[in-house]
Amino acid sequence: MTDVETIAADTCVVAMGNDSNSVLRPLGIRLPIYPVKGYSMTFPVGQWNGAPVIPMADTGRHIGITRLGDRIRVAGTAEFAGNDRSLNPKRIGNLRRFFLDVFPDYPDPTAGVGWTGFRPMTPDGIPYLGETPIQGLYLNTGHGHLGWTMSCGSGQALAHLISGATGDLDLTGMTLASR
Ligand SMILES: Cc1cc2nc3c(=O)[nH]c(=O)nc-3n(C[C@H](O)[C@H](O)[C@H](O)COP(=O)(O)OP(=O)(O)OC[C@H]3O[C@@H](n4cnc5c(N)ncnc54)[C@H](O)[C@@H]3O)c2cc1C
Repeated sequence: MTDVETIAADTCVVAMGNDSNSVLRPLGIRLPIYPVKGYSMTFPVGQWNGAPVIPMADTGRHIGITRLGDRIRVAGTAEFAGNDRSLNPKRIGNLRRFFLDVFPDYPDPTAGVGWTGFRPMTPDGIPYLGETPIQGLYLNTGHGHLGWTMSCGSGQALAHLISGATGDLDLTGMTLASR
């Protein structure tokens, strides 16, 4: 149901990340998905010659640095703040400091734009994929900090399941019924 129309469908997939429960709860399904807040800072490359061309990760501090064309993105942080979407200046400051520690020659230490978003996290980090007790209603949600990584595999596994094709991914442990 959109704000302009209602579309009849045989099959529906709930893929709404942290908001999944808003449609599932009225149907008697409640998933343990919590918004874990992350932050990024994006810096313009400009005329800077020292910009990295490959992604880097500091696994100790859980911060990644990625080149995005003429920008550099520094991302990380896991904060438990409910649905608070405000930019915590301390968290943003940490990302800036980290970036400037790694690249002290970056020409403009005051540049950069902050952002925050939520990871739809389950307690064990495993997404919910597959059928629900309601016929035609499927789940593809709760991918936490690895939603981009798992998106193609999850989509394909669900497409196989819905279309009745044989897939090579065993969904045991990801379906509602098996958890
Ligand atoms: C700082 C940060 C860094 C990250 N880094 C990585 C990384 O390096 N690699 C990686 O794999 N993952 C990473 N992630 C995680 C990744 O972003 C998430 O796992 C992924 O976005 C989850 O995708 P999703 O489509 O399930 O949910 P979302 O991206 O949250 O999308 C849900 C969508 O549902 C829509 N929606 C909600 N309610 C409704 C409604 N009622 N009707 C219609 N639509 C609705 C929303 O508007 C939204 O577009 C990172 C996340 C953060 C915050």
